[in-house]
Amino acid sequence: MTDPLDILHHTFGFSGFRGVQQQVVDRVMAGANTLAVMPTGAGKSLCYQVPALARPGTALVVSPLIALMHDQIRAADGFGIRAAALTSADDNRAETIARLKSGDLDLLYVAPERATGAGFRDLIGRIPLALIAIDEAHCVSEWGHDFRPDYRLLRPLLDTLDAPRLALTATADKATRADILVQLGIPADGLILAGFDRPNIRYAIRPRDGISGQLKALLAEQPGPGIVYAPSRAATEKIAESLSASGRRTLPYHAGLDPRVRAANQAAFVASEDMVIAATIAFGMGIDKPDVRFVAHAGLPKSIEAYYQETGRAGRDGDPAEAHLFWGAEDFSRARRRIETEVPDERRAGERTRLNALAALVEAPGCRRAILLRHFGETPPASCGNCDNCLAPPATVDATEAARKLLSAAFRTEMRFGITHLVDVLAGKDSDKIHGFGHHNLSVFGIADESELGLMKPVARALLARDALRADEYGGLSFGPAARPILKGEELVELVLPSRKTRRRRE
Ligand code: ADP
Ligand code: ZN
Repeated sequence: MTDPLDILHHTFGFSGFRGVQQQVVDRVMAGANTLAVMPTGAGKSLCYQVPALARPGTALVVSPLIALMHDQIRAADGFGIRAAALTSADDNRAETIARLKSGDLDLLYVAPERATGAGFRDLIGRIPLALIAIDEAHCVSEWGHDFRPDYRLLRPLLDTLDAPRLALTATADKATRADILVQLGIPADGLILAGFDRPNIRYAIRPRDGISGQLKALLAEQPGPGIVYAPSRAATEKIAESLSASGRRTLPYHAGLDPRVRAANQAAFVASEDMVIAATIAFGMGIDKPDVRFVAHAGLPKSIEAYYQETGRAGRDGDPAEAHLFWGAEDFSRARRRIETEVPDERRAGERTRLNALAALVEAPGCRRAILLRHFGETPPASCGNCDNCLAPPATVDATEAARKLLSAAFRTEMRFGITHLVDVLAGKDSDKIHGFGHHNLSVFGIADESELGLMKPVARALLARDALRADEYGGLSFGPAARPILKGEELVELVLPSRKTRRRRE
């Protein structure tokens, strides 16, 4: 064995380990099974690369994406590390297997599908292994935001191989971490958790209100390269066009583009100093661009983990960067419908919990960073001084009474009408539609005053976000599980007043 520190200095040219790297490397060197949870940019790869070189044998690296493997191999090549992948996209597989057998590889990358095949087990069983790294290890957990069933099949293979396991992930909340430990056979004291705070990222979150205008206003104040995440391929193209027309070069990126165009757009972005890329979430994994100055979400991310990971692509150089999220009630409605109709029973509870956590984040009047860090199990100070709510504490209003009136109106009209009609009923409007349904005879007819009526739109947004109201695909509103406690007065509805502009220039 060679000394890890020597390898760090001589192979990588780095002066020292960062953060928890040393701790992780020490455990792997001692042959112990380990789960390292480290934020993006913290240097996870080094944690398996150094022991791969310091311990005898080849390191097996399980990774979910071919593109990710090839990025890693390119980076390893740059340090003079002998690395190869066995994937359908590598036509030198025979050569790689020969190199593996003759001990000529430091790192071997495989996808979980291949790793769990019988042929691979026979092959790898005869090779001396330095360690087994399981990258993106949250994929093993149904609690994680990116469950891959093939990861579940790794355990039998791991149990037959005589090598320490190192599971790595950037995004795992408490439940997911516990699950990874169980699924991969890592003891509880094998968990090494790096701090999650990214103090140079300023978080700002507000409701969507003319997204094209909101993005243009953002770009007008925000120089440097940036990523705009859009919810669909079509939306990336539309945003790219609209932002380019406003004078900032913006290219689209999504899986439906011609591969050459996609690669060219990515390369242009990586090389540029002020370009914007409008992308689906397909963009970002494995892209090494440390000077991204902002990440904007034009729609709700999938989970807090996804939000943290996607915003984490900003400011990896440590300089100030910004993360902007624009959300709409319809994002929540769509997500809730998907959970109820498409998600298998056993995963529904977990997905609901995840969406509720997102609702709490976007609706919060308090510090965004505190919510994020608490989500990852840390105990941060109550206020960070570098998020929208800390920089300009928002005005809040107790809208419980208005919320109860809106819920009652939905209930009295048999939970099938949209927000416009419900507000008309509450306002006591004299219209044909109201008379046609006999809604002028209801006890809720005309019971809301001017100030309450003015709040109904944000109230509806808040109720949709927290699952007190659910919208069907035509906008018809019915009760969700959180409706009753509000009606019964057990739960308050405190609203952040949205009209104010919360963005401030950096001093
Ligand atoms: P992650 O996978 O955790 O997002 P990477 O492994 O891609 O992070 O590392 C991020 C960057 O930091 C890379 O450019 C890597 O070479 C660099 N890096 C990692 N560890 C160190 C270190 N100890 N000293 C200096 N640079 C480091
Ligand atoms: Zn804050």
